[in-house]
Amino acid sequence: MILFIHRKDLRTHDLPALDAIFASGLPSLHILVLDPFLLRNGRGREHSGRNFLAHAGRLQRLYTKHGRRLHVLYGEPAAVVSRIADAHPIREIVWHEDHTPYALTRDRELRQLAAERGIPATAYDEAALADLRDFVRWSGREDPYKVFTPFYKRWSAYVTERFKPASTRSVAELETAELHSDVRDGFRLPPELGAQLQHDDPADSGDEPDPMQALESFLDERLAGYADGRDRFAREDTSRISRHLNVGALSIREVYERLMEAPIGIEPWLRQLAWRDFYLYQSRLDPDFFRYEQVFDLSPLGDTHFRAWAEGRTGIPIIDAAMTELNETGWMPNRLRMITAMFLTKNLGCPFPYGERYFRYKLSDYDNVLNRGGWLWCASLGFDAAPYFRVMNPATQSETHDPSGAYIRRWLPHLAGRSDKEIHKPLPEAIVDLKASRAQAIETYKLILKSESARPAGDDLDAGADRPWRD
Ligand SMILES: Cc1cc2nc3c(=O)[nH]c(=O)nc-3n(C[C@H](O)[C@H](O)[C@H](O)COP(=O)(O)OP(=O)(O)OC[C@H]3O[C@@H](n4cnc5c(N)ncnc54)[C@H](O)[C@@H]3O)c2cc1C
Repeated sequence: MILFIHRKDLRTHDLPALDAIFASGLPSLHILVLDPFLLRNGRGREHSGRNFLAHAGRLQRLYTKHGRRLHVLYGEPAAVVSRIADAHPIREIVWHEDHTPYALTRDRELRQLAAERGIPATAYDEAALADLRDFVRWSGREDPYKVFTPFYKRWSAYVTERFKPASTRSVAELETAELHSDVRDGFRLPPELGAQLQHDDPADSGDEPDPMQALESFLDERLAGYADGRDRFAREDTSRISRHLNVGALSIREVYERLMEAPIGIEPWLRQLAWRDFYLYQSRLDPDFFRYEQVFDLSPLGDTHFRAWAEGRTGIPIIDAAMTELNETGWMPNRLRMITAMFLTKNLGCPFPYGERYFRYKLSDYDNVLNRGGWLWCASLGFDAAPYFRVMNPATQSETHDPSGAYIRRWLPHLAGRSDKEIHKPLPEAIVDLKASRAQAIETYKLILKSESARPAGDDLDAGADRPWRD
């Protein structure tokens, strides 16, 4: 029997692990482990946790619809797998890779546990649109691309030439096994998590996520106007597929195949999908990606204004409106993520990990790699980041992308009576002066960028991990 562990791949088709199980002809035991570490500090009740749990519940229902079994368990992943291996004749363990530091450590432990028991363990990479390992070999680059435009050129050529179509195999074609009752009883979900999965939690809207519907309605109704509309944050012109894509409820290969059928407007949106791959690529190839706060000295920064920012009390209307939308709904349009992140890191002089951590809880489409990539960009750190002297003016941005102030009026109704011209301007009680704080930020970040310290020899995130990126 093969043990398949679901991760950020919450769907029932187009998964390399399912293809491998099918090819083996063996029955399989399918589990999803809700890890207390990842749900700590009430994360399960925040927008990001709720999105994951809503999709986990949906996945379980999809299995049932196909007449198959998915076992959702609660516990420390290695302990769960160890108990399963005691109770079932496991011949192989398979899963899909994730490249965050936590995931790498967790999977290293899993491999060790499997090796001790003589069980082969195989991880498949399916997160990116391009097969990133193959892309690295094919592009023939010793050093990774550090700038998006040349990456995009090469990536586009690769995808045109070597795109691997979505697999049509589904879980319905496999023979899934029951779980031994000892394991089920040992790792039962706490009642509140069980309720969230079943949608009978009062805090849950009860809406069944529908990833394909989100994609289809975007492609049919808004793709053609995407290039013009994507930064007009008062409208809802982007796809909003991120909350489905990041938990794997949508397959990126299916997204691409559907996009290629569109009559017009393909390129601008494909470019955004390439940004997603660019950050996934960096997370694998830039050993500093998850540790820039250790590479640069951020001590000239502080957290004085962090709370006011998080609670939407800065007195800068567009910032407060965007943070209100985020806090209430779990959503914030991309342009506003850039504006609020740059405002926090530059004008308010707060270290980027504070904002990154806040978004981790609040964004329903939270993704460890894309979120970090966005925050690094705004804080002028990492590959192809905004230059240190780039400090967006939130009031000007608001005026440019939403001249009538419709967005501010929607989220801050107490300002609705202001004129179109006045509505964007800082309030008298604003916590910073935009001009003075911009000048200060430029000086501070100039200093920070000079503080780069070399990584100590041997201190490589790749060390010991299963990451044959440089072979
Ligand atoms: C500070 C900051 C934090 C961010 N945190 C996240 C996050 O946690 N999760 C997340 O999915 N995205 C994050 N982004 C990127 C971007 O804001 C979202 O992907 C986008 O807003 C999702 O909306 P959409 O699905 O309607 O995108 P669309 O505009 O319809 O684009 C389609 C897809 O392309 C990808 N994409 C679009 N823009 C970007 C981008 N700038 N960078 C990387 N990929 C992109 C996403 O997968 C997106 O779903 C962040 C950006 C910033 C500046």
